[in-house]
Amino acid sequence: MRVLALNCGSSSVKSALIDTALGRRVQELHVEVVAGADFQAAVAELLVTYRTSAPIEAVAHRVVHGGEKFVEPTRLDDAVLSEIEQLNHLAPLHNPPALAAIRRARSVLPDAPHFAVFDTAFHATLPDHAREYALPADVRQRFGIRRFGFHGINHSHVAQSVSAHLQIDVTKLRIISCHLGNGASVTAIEQGRSVDTSMGMTPLEGLVMGTRAGDVDPGVLLQLRRAGHLDADELDELLNKRSGLKGLAGTNDMREIERRASAGDQDCALAIAVYVHRIRKYIGAYAASMGGVDVIAFTAGVGEHSALIRRRCLERLEFIGALLDVTRNEAVKLTSDQPVAILNVSASKVQLLAVRADEELAIAQAAAAALS
Ligand code: ADP
Repeated sequence: MRVLALNCGSSSVKSALIDTALGRRVQELHVEVVAGADFQAAVAELLVTYRTSAPIEAVAHRVVHGGEKFVEPTRLDDAVLSEIEQLNHLAPLHNPPALAAIRRARSVLPDAPHFAVFDTAFHATLPDHAREYALPADVRQRFGIRRFGFHGINHSHVAQSVSAHLQIDVTKLRIISCHLGNGASVTAIEQGRSVDTSMGMTPLEGLVMGTRAGDVDPGVLLQLRRAGHLDADELDELLNKRSGLKGLAGTNDMREIERRASAGDQDCALAIAVYVHRIRKYIGAYAASMGGVDVIAFTAGVGEHSALIRRRCLERLEFIGALLDVTRNEAVKLTSDQPVAILNVSASKVQLLAVRADEELAIAQAAAAALS
């Protein structure tokens, strides 16, 4: 089946026409949408290009937040769209552009079935103990406060890719999937299901990210509110846009941070140290909560491309049986034909892998499966 996958972020549109039976791209187009530019116009232009490469049998849209309700790929109609719209407050940066793109795509390609595939959906299986914050029940209920988790489309794709590559049924594996892109999260996957993940009610919790702080003592926010007189919008901006690697090192580009650290820049060395320490802590925690780990996988920009970060994250994990092959780790080059690479020595009890992230392929396959 030929499925058009549309992946609209806050600042870019990634898209691909995918032959889901072959798992291959027929065509792909990426557009960076600069601030202030007409997002809908960019999407429309892109769709017109694809319309000439008919037939498009279905359209798959990535939607970041599906809230409590949307835990499966869902066929879109007007009613479903307005329900998704009601979740905009949960993902104000991500859901609105996706909805705008969906509307435009439905008008340009009215005859194809359109599906939404949700980043939160894979985490619908979080057990209560991983889903709930230790806040009073009435507060949690009144404000809908719970952990959702994100990057589920790719974490699920990683689990499937690992299972296919190792030829071991996913239900027999305990996987720790480390998605290290601009946004970053770790997920514990047991019997093919997400059982814990580092992002929470919003994508702010967990790992050090490009511009997000990840875990901070909530007392810090109280202090900034009281002593620093920052209001909610200023805290939002601080935690989402000026923190993380950017806050520590002045840039969120890991390549540059690695270059500057190796040239002796102390801030960049510290940024890397804090970044990998956080990841290693989560790996240890998830190995403990799953009673062990069979696979640790690295994915997304940093996870796929940075041998240094992978090596540093895996330091001192020999005690759980994770033994890196340093030469293999350095040699990794993932492509669409070779989307998975093994990084461990053969004596390692834990399989260490790098896995190419492919959200467009994953959402196209999810839509094709839902349609059939
Ligand atoms: P997004 O979440 O925006 O899709 P990506 O998955 O593309 O982000 O990841 C972006 C991050 O990957 C950036 O920090 C970038 O510096 C980093 N990255 C890309 N290539 C490399 C590389 N060769 N070495 C280290 N980091 C890299």
